[in-house]
Amino acid sequence: MIYLDHNATTPVRPEVLEAMLPYFGEISGNPSSIHGAGQTARVAVDRARGTVAAALGSAPEEVHFTSGGTEADNWAIKGIAAACQHSRGRRSRPPRIVTSAIEHHAVWHTCGYLAEHAGVEVAYVPVDEFGRVSVEAVADALDEDVILVSIMHANNETGAIQPVAEIGKLARERGLPFHVDAVQALGKTDVQVDELCADLVSVSAHKINGPKGTGALYIRRGTEIEPLAHGGDHEGGMRAGTENVAGIVGFGKAVELRQGPSAARERAVMSRLRDRLEAGVTAAVADTVVNGHRRERVGNTSSISFRGVGAEAIIVGLDLDGVAISSGSACAAGSTDPSHVLLAMGLEPRQAASAVRFSLGWGNTKEEIDRLLELLPPLVERLRRISV
Ligand code: PLP
Repeated sequence: MIYLDHNATTPVRPEVLEAMLPYFGEISGNPSSIHGAGQTARVAVDRARGTVAAALGSAPEEVHFTSGGTEADNWAIKGIAAACQHSRGRRSRPPRIVTSAIEHHAVWHTCGYLAEHAGVEVAYVPVDEFGRVSVEAVADALDEDVILVSIMHANNETGAIQPVAEIGKLARERGLPFHVDAVQALGKTDVQVDELCADLVSVSAHKINGPKGTGALYIRRGTEIEPLAHGGDHEGGMRAGTENVAGIVGFGKAVELRQGPSAARERAVMSRLRDRLEAGVTAAVADTVVNGHRRERVGNTSSISFRGVGAEAIIVGLDLDGVAISSGSACAAGSTDPSHVLLAMGLEPRQAASAVRFSLGWGNTKEEIDRLLELLPPLVERLRRISV
């Protein structure tokens, strides 16, 4: 199989699996136990915490492990909303969250839930035609009712990198907590909490060749936030539940493998492969549009619309030839609605429904891209012929 759907999830790298395996076997203690077996697990969890913290430029105790990016996003948003309710009591006007029109469903639906059930207003800031959030629109939305600004770092569908540092500065100037969903950015571009002026940052292991079901929420010291899960005194008393020790160890290893000169080289190679794919597709297939910003984006992602062809037909056709791609967010798989991200960028519904996402990752080769370039043009031509 040629796997070009790394923004949905990635294979676990062998080094990550190797690091995890002992924690399914001989090292089986609970990190909260005071005996030796427990303390061995505790040391492993804390080592991984240190690795993730170093990658984010934070202190280890500001990193809280979660079950993934979705939980981290939920916690950031619901936790701030709950803390505001507690600290400020009943307010005459509803509190407001400022987010964008292109967020992942983990943020979008969480904000929607609070709007429906907790009387929170949500302002969805628009994006330009390149899929980038307008800093001016964020500035205009920041009034005294705002309790949180939540803007993603790299978009999962187009790869567009958002002006998060500028937005973080605005939020900081107004004393507002700033949440960044960096799930698609970690390991692909720099994510440094201080440079972003971020108070909360969500990350996930399975997008960077770590295991599924593990992530983390960075919480800047002093941020007023309530826990999402209550119970034991885990994760500094902020996230109850026995830690997923093997998953956390794998996350730490995956983060480690994305650091340093060899990781930078891998990134550069991937970016050249993505450019080769994009240039090849747009040269060989007429009436294609690359969606999203061409420069301000992570190096592994390309969203391309093929006029007159439904994305699903392309996905199924390539799947039969052994190539895995997607139409956008994996969490929206099965939905036939055009992507809210592409619609927010101003694409017509038909153009949005004809967009497929190629997302490259560790292990992809030039030969794979060239094979895709052999398979895709005749497929699109065939599909266009039968759709007229
Ligand atoms: N945020 C973004 C931008 C994502 O792309 C994803 C996953 O696709 C998530 C959040 C959810 O992360 P997880 O799958 O770890 O729950």
